[in-house]
Amino acid sequence: MLARRTVTSVRALRATRLLSTRAADILSSLDIPTSVELPGVYDGNWVGNGDIMESVCPTTGEVLARVKTASPEELQHALIKSREAYRFFRTVPAPRRGEILRQIRQALSDKRDALGALVSLEMGKIRTEGVGEVQEFVDICDYAVGLSRMMNGNVVSSERPGHTILEVPNPLGVVAVLSAFNFPVAVYGWNLALSMAAGNATLWKPSPSTPLCSIAVTKIVAGVLEKNGIPGAVAGLVTGGKDVGEAVVESRDVDMVSFTGSEAIGRIVGKTVQSRFGKILLELGGNNASVVMPDADLSVAVPSVFFGSIGTAGQRCTSTRRLYLHRKIASEFLELLQKMYGSIRVGDPLVSSTLLGPLHNTTGVNIFTDAVKHLRDSEANILTGGSRYSETPFDKGNFVQPTIAIPKSVDPTDKIWSTETFAPVLCAAVFDELEEAIEWNNAVPQGLSSSLWTRDLRNMGKWIGPSGSDTGIVNVNVGTSGAEIGAAFGGNKSTGWGRESGGDAWKQYVRWSACTINFSDEAPLAQGVDFSV
Ligand code: NAD
Repeated sequence: MLARRTVTSVRALRATRLLSTRAADILSSLDIPTSVELPGVYDGNWVGNGDIMESVCPTTGEVLARVKTASPEELQHALIKSREAYRFFRTVPAPRRGEILRQIRQALSDKRDALGALVSLEMGKIRTEGVGEVQEFVDICDYAVGLSRMMNGNVVSSERPGHTILEVPNPLGVVAVLSAFNFPVAVYGWNLALSMAAGNATLWKPSPSTPLCSIAVTKIVAGVLEKNGIPGAVAGLVTGGKDVGEAVVESRDVDMVSFTGSEAIGRIVGKTVQSRFGKILLELGGNNASVVMPDADLSVAVPSVFFGSIGTAGQRCTSTRRLYLHRKIASEFLELLQKMYGSIRVGDPLVSSTLLGPLHNTTGVNIFTDAVKHLRDSEANILTGGSRYSETPFDKGNFVQPTIAIPKSVDPTDKIWSTETFAPVLCAAVFDELEEAIEWNNAVPQGLSSSLWTRDLRNMGKWIGPSGSDTGIVNVNVGTSGAEIGAAFGGNKSTGWGRESGGDAWKQYVRWSACTINFSDEAPLAQGVDFSV
């Protein structure tokens, strides 16, 4: 399944190194050269003279490309170009910005399958999820096209006669988007679409391990901007590692930082941006629970938990990591779930029948291995999984067995429950009362997603109400994972309180002014203050 046929075409033979056809076909379908080091900076022109970064395929270990990242000078130049682009773009009427987004949407849609395959190749998620991620970008563009005619302010009644108050949204400036490896296309899409509709210049610093996705997307977006005579730096790109990320975050030329990543890095980024009074949007780690009541429809709940915990090999911020089962159905549920785990088709994520691909990198494998060791050391009952897939054809990739464990301790503040294990490890516990499960659900630092499985309206009311789940996404009979773009997406507590995508998320990408206008012949003060001489 993971065979790597070597390229025999003349083009590839001329190349300095041979790339598998598996990879070469995808890269060439997106006009990404396979024989050269790729420039990883776009500010209207493609450049790159910083460190060389390798894109490594998580499935085969093959080096897919070498990318020239941003040098410190190139980063500063990109920031200047972003500022210039913003000054231009803020004067373009919002509906016209919407029209450009409509064209971006079309260009992305035309390349949806190729781009989805690239996500699968470089990140490691299965192809249907890779394509779904691109579809999410397409969807948010549709949303932003409409939004571009609806980014309305407010008219507020004034207490002073002959006065009116307007709340006015204006473009904000330069928005930097720092993104994580697990959604190498969609997270940028959510941000770019809203930021562009709002009239900003957006500068993307993607994950260092998914540079090809960011180059491919930027090429598509840049093509549309160019056709419309819009400066390329409206949607700039600076690839690089921690140094580039730090420099972007510290820069006073960046008005807003939208950061998606781990809680540990988010804490640093949040403090840095706050210390210079920049705007910050944080989308950090999740540690999501499903709670299953005795009246749940298990024919729906079990497959949903299966997808929630195994989908994207457990590398979604919304993956189901904790499973709280009512005592009455616990054994039956676990038996059914284990049966599904036993049927998982592991392999090359590009093959359509595969449901479980590799972890993205060796860091992920170490996270998995450490978690399993901790479970074993603390005498957890490991029901299934617990090892790597190390035999051929999995030996070159980062394949691990999806794991279900029943930890000895049910204390949700115990490390195994309270930290996000970014791998397919699901921990289960048994409860007797819904209140107990809600308490466990809420006892962890993170607050991204949660779901309750029940047919009882009373349980549902409790779950979504003031004494219910404290996460940003609170589902009923829907898994923790797989949100749509229409609702604001994000989490509470150590997930960072950020909201992206739908709802009121756009309001963060503008600067708001309260404008009081006096059209009378008097100048009264508010609250009846008398300052007459
Ligand atoms: P990460 O925190 O390691 O990296 C995220 C980004 O931060 C990368 O672009 C990285 O280069 C950059 N970075 C690293 N150090 C930096 C520094 N000191 N200053 C500035 N930037 C720096 O995260 P990851 O491993 O790529 O992604 C996985 C994490 O992301 C998980 O915790 C997952 O839950 C989270 N995530 C959250 C959401 C959400 O919407 N809540 C979505 C996707 C992923």
